[in-house]
Amino acid sequence: MFFNNLTILQLGLLLLQGSTTFAKHISSQTCNNCSCVIAETLGPKLSAGASFAYSTVAAPRWSEFDAPDPGLVVNVATESDVLITVQYCNENNITFLAQNGGHGWGQTFHLGLEGLLINLSGLNSTTFNADKTEATIQGGALVRSVVDAAYSNGAQIPTGNCNCVGALGAILGGGFGRLMGLYGLGVDNLLSLNVVTANGSQLTVTPETEAELWWALRGTGPNFGIVTSATITSYPVTTAENGAWAASFIFTEDQIEDVVEAVGALDLLPEMAVFLYYAVSDGTPVVLVSGSYAGANNSDGPNAFASITAVGPVVEQAAWEPFNEVNAGGDSFCAKGGYKPAYGAGLAELVPATWRSIWNEFVDFVAINGTSASTVMVDCYPMEKDPDSTRFLFVLSLEIYYQLQCCISFGKSVRSLWYETSGIATNATYINYAVGDEPYSVVYGDNLATLESLKSVWDPSRKFDQFFPL
Ligand SMILES: Cc1cc2nc3c(=O)[nH]c(=O)nc-3n(C[C@H](O)[C@H](O)[C@H](O)COP(=O)(O)OP(=O)(O)OC[C@H]3O[C@@H](n4cnc5c(N)ncnc54)[C@H](O)[C@@H]3O)c2cc1C
Repeated sequence: MFFNNLTILQLGLLLLQGSTTFAKHISSQTCNNCSCVIAETLGPKLSAGASFAYSTVAAPRWSEFDAPDPGLVVNVATESDVLITVQYCNENNITFLAQNGGHGWGQTFHLGLEGLLINLSGLNSTTFNADKTEATIQGGALVRSVVDAAYSNGAQIPTGNCNCVGALGAILGGGFGRLMGLYGLGVDNLLSLNVVTANGSQLTVTPETEAELWWALRGTGPNFGIVTSATITSYPVTTAENGAWAASFIFTEDQIEDVVEAVGALDLLPEMAVFLYYAVSDGTPVVLVSGSYAGANNSDGPNAFASITAVGPVVEQAAWEPFNEVNAGGDSFCAKGGYKPAYGAGLAELVPATWRSIWNEFVDFVAINGTSASTVMVDCYPMEKDPDSTRFLFVLSLEIYYQLQCCISFGKSVRSLWYETSGIATNATYINYAVGDEPYSVVYGDNLATLESLKSVWDPSRKFDQFFPL
């Protein structure tokens, strides 16, 4: 319950007081519900910039399917606000969840009206040391703001590819992105983490201070604390080199086998990232390949993608872009709201026959009313810096408003097809592309037992139990 530790007297006084005392914190009406009571009692403890909202309109999510539905949203303004809020929740036995970019699609969220959402979006700064070799990213900064800050500081930081995703939301699960062939996963570039832990402590976690917590946070961060800021390696580059050749190609359906073969056989150089999609364009299902090659304008991009262009795309667009613009091509994936159940799988190979079967199902599926924004896609990255990861990461992202059951059946069917020809011995899924219906061994692999035992040490009461909870 919200107000377990408030006495009946306190509660009665608060109800009588109305909302005038902390009007700057409360956006509406008289104080006549539990959320308002929390705002009244927590509000005075927070910084002047913090505020409350009663609706998730204040913190919209990428998908509303199985999304958190809190009674109250706390818009924190300082890292201390996060600490104070967690302490308050602990004292009053209130369920809480941090939200960053709001793109987590896992179906393990269960925050209901009795719970409190800690909206991190006010913690959005990225700052640099003098020689730009280290950056400190706050807990609610989006990929777009980190990439912009890096670009204007003459540097690059390994982030995810979608501007709207929470930078640390992605990195704490691994952090795949178009620079990973050059710099490795985002998570492997972390240097230190400022964390609010389950017991309401603020710690600076490094390999030296808390080796086991450090290990657990880097991959399963949402299960072990709220990272209010992280210091990460930043890579100085000249303006001329701070960009990428970016291309997109459209193919016809009869070219599927050739395209899949070509993408699968591509020699992925460290500068490259490649994406293969099925999508709907102007009402017609299409096969797309896009990709980038990081480096200066005269880079080898066109040569690196020669085997793709050799298949004969019907549409071809390519240009060199400064690095702060390269992600813009994916902005259409950022649209918030709607039901988007999504399913993912890790694959080591691309099998043309599998993709033909998926295409056949995709065409039938997107003929259903309300499904035309659906996408089947694979991210392909060079893995030299991360040899333990699979080379391809598949994600199926679906958007549907009326035909939810069809959508879920289609998603599961595609995932089964992927699993059947994954090229890896046991099914595996990147935690940030998982759903929650997989056995946890698929999400956590061999690390499951160690993570469970660390969870018992660092979060014995399971306060952080909403993101593939251990
Ligand atoms: C359109 C789209 C594009 C994507 N592109 C990429 C990509 O290029 N690379 C990639 O690796 N992944 C990508 N993903 C997957 C993405 O990494 C996950 O969905 C991730 O969980 C989103 O983080 P978020 O902060 O946006 O979401 P949220 O829902 O806000 O957060 C997800 C979970 O992480 C927790 N969390 C967030 N921030 C913190 C923090 N500071 N401290 C502790 N816990 C925190 C939240 O509490 C929640 O449990 C993409 C997803 C979508 C929908």
